[in-house]
Amino acid sequence: MRIARFTTGGDPQYGFVQKEGGKKYRAVITGDPLFMKANPTGERIPLDDWDGVGEESASAVRLLTPVIPRSKVVCVGLNYIDHIREMGHDEPTQPVLFLKPNTAVIGPDDPIVLPEWSDEVSYEVELAIVIGRICKDVSEENALKYVLGYTIGNDVTARDAQRADGQWARAKSFDTACPLGPWIETDFDFENAEITSRVNGEVKQHSNTAQMLFNVPYLVSYISAAMTLLPGDVILTGTPAGVGRIDVGDVVECEIEGIGTLRNPVLRATA
Ligand code: MG
Repeated sequence: MRIARFTTGGDPQYGFVQKEGGKKYRAVITGDPLFMKANPTGERIPLDDWDGVGEESASAVRLLTPVIPRSKVVCVGLNYIDHIREMGHDEPTQPVLFLKPNTAVIGPDDPIVLPEWSDEVSYEVELAIVIGRICKDVSEENALKYVLGYTIGNDVTARDAQRADGQWARAKSFDTACPLGPWIETDFDFENAEITSRVNGEVKQHSNTAQMLFNVPYLVSYISAAMTLLPGDVILTGTPAGVGRIDVGDVVECEIEGIGTLRNPVLRATA
């Protein structure tokens, strides 16, 4: 099941993205399915593109980030072997964690705004886990009971600030540094999914979630041993090799097989 959050010009609404008779549509529901029982309103909004790219251009309906993280986005720094090598690090024996604030989150087609203090901002396609229940000290065996579903994240990073600062807070937490979307997929094979990023249509990263050093149940369990995860919190699970710079006018697409494509244009902040 795919849960989308969208606007037709007013308050955000939620809907289940469904197929029927070859046509795709959003079945509008009442409230936020993360926090209350979902009741269909009976309204259906057509959906032209199942993959989430380019669907809204001709209509007044616009996809929003499928979730505003309730308290935090927990990120895993080094989780694909090829990316660890390209960054010149040793293979970690346990996950390297950092946080992004929910103020960094944007949705599909929202612009990534390059901060004026950075000349080297990079994309990082990542599988995003959306937590569905309060989660603390859970075992790997029980971890998936706390996962609502999965979406796509872009761990946008000011690489020059990351090197200069030592701590990663500024480099990875600036406004617009956490695109999420296009929707939450609840039926997803996290053990074997192609993961790809493109800039202006050119493939930059291409790997498979099977290449993760630490898998989804391990990460949920490991993080929950340190901090309480709330419904709507998000875990970004690390990026494969091929990270690189983006500039004004670029369009970044992050795609994960079985979920869809998250697309964002790139702008520059002006003083
Ligand atoms: Mg990352």
